[in-house]
Amino acid sequence: MSISFEGKVAIVTGAGNGLGRSHALELARRGAKVVVNDLGGGRDGSGGSLTAAETVVAEIEAAGGEAMANGANVTDYQQVQDMVKAAAERWGRVDILVNNAGILRDKSFAKAPMDDFNLVVNVHLMGSVNCTKAVWDIMREQQYGRIVMTTSSSGLYGNFGQSNYGAAKTGVVGFMNTLCLEGEKYGIKVNCLSPTAATRMTEDIIPDPKALELLTPESVTAGLIALVADDAPNRFILCAGAGAYAKARILETEGIYLPPEQQTAENVLANLDAISDERGQQEVVGGLNQTVKFIQKAAEGTGVK
Ligand code: NAD
Repeated sequence: MSISFEGKVAIVTGAGNGLGRSHALELARRGAKVVVNDLGGGRDGSGGSLTAAETVVAEIEAAGGEAMANGANVTDYQQVQDMVKAAAERWGRVDILVNNAGILRDKSFAKAPMDDFNLVVNVHLMGSVNCTKAVWDIMREQQYGRIVMTTSSSGLYGNFGQSNYGAAKTGVVGFMNTLCLEGEKYGIKVNCLSPTAATRMTEDIIPDPKALELLTPESVTAGLIALVADDAPNRFILCAGAGAYAKARILETEGIYLPPEQQTAENVLANLDAISDERGQQEVVGGLNQTVKFIQKAAEGTGVK
C-alpha cells in the first residue's frame, strides 16, 4: 500500500523544527502542498522569527515540493484564520491539519506560576482549537478532512513537573473525542499522536545519546502519515517512538451496581476491587452511552425495566 497526498493541502503547525519539520517534509515528499507554520520562538515559547519555517520551505522546494511559510502564533485566532485563508486562496482547499506546535514550561505544581500554566494550555490546547476551528467549515464543505492532535505520554500517564503540559495534552484527547462524533458524517477523521523523539524539546530530558539516536522524528512521522491517510482510522491515540507503535485508550470497567440502601461512600470504598475488575471492560464511545449502561445496570439490579 502506498500513501500519496497528490492534490492535497496540509497545514503543519510548529513545523520549523523537530517533529513538525519531519511531518512537513514527508507530507510534501508524498505530494501534499504544505503550509509550514512556525512562530520561530524558543523552547519555552519566547521570541519569534519566520526563519525556521522559511528554512523548511526551502528544503521542501529544493526537493521539488510546494510549500509556504507562515509565522502565525497558534494562540492568536485572527492570525490562524489569516493562515488558513492564505492556504485556501493559493491552493483552493485544506485537507490535512497537524496540530503540532508546542512549548514547555516545566516546574513542579507548587512552584509553577499561573502565567506559565495559562500559556502552556493556551499553546497546546487552545492552539489546536484555534487551528481546528479555522479549517472545520472548509473540511465540512469538502466532505473530507484529516486532523491530528499531538498529545503526550505526560498527559496520558503523568510526568513530574509537567502538570500544565499534561493537562493541556490530555485536553486535546477530550477535544478529539467529541470532534470524531461531530466530524464523521462529513468525512472528517480526527486522531491523536503521542510521540517520543529526540528534538530540542527532549534533548535534556532524555540524556542517553544511544537512546536519542533511536528516537528519530522520522519514526514518529511514519505514524503521523498513517493518521492522515485516506484510510486513516478515527479516534485512534497512536503512541510512536523509536520505531515502536502502540495504541492508548481509555477503558471503563463493567463496574458494579449498589441498591439505594447500599449507595454509601463506605460501600464504594469497600468495593474498589470489584469496581476495578477488568473482565468485560470496554472503550465507551460517546458519554451518553455510559449513562445508558448505568441505567441498564440499575434496571437489572432492581428488576425495574
Ligand atoms: P520542538 O520544540 O522541536 O518544536 C515545536 C515547534 O513549535 C517549534 O518550532 C516552535 O517554534 C513551534 N511553536 C511553539 N509555539 C508556537 C506557537 N504558539 N505558534 C506556532 N508555532 C509554535 O518540539 P517537538 O519535540 O518537535 O514537539 C512537537 C510536538 O510534539 C509538541 O506538541 C510536543 O509537545 C509534542 N511532543 C513531543 C515529544 C517528544 O518526545 N519530542 C513528546 C511528546 C509530545
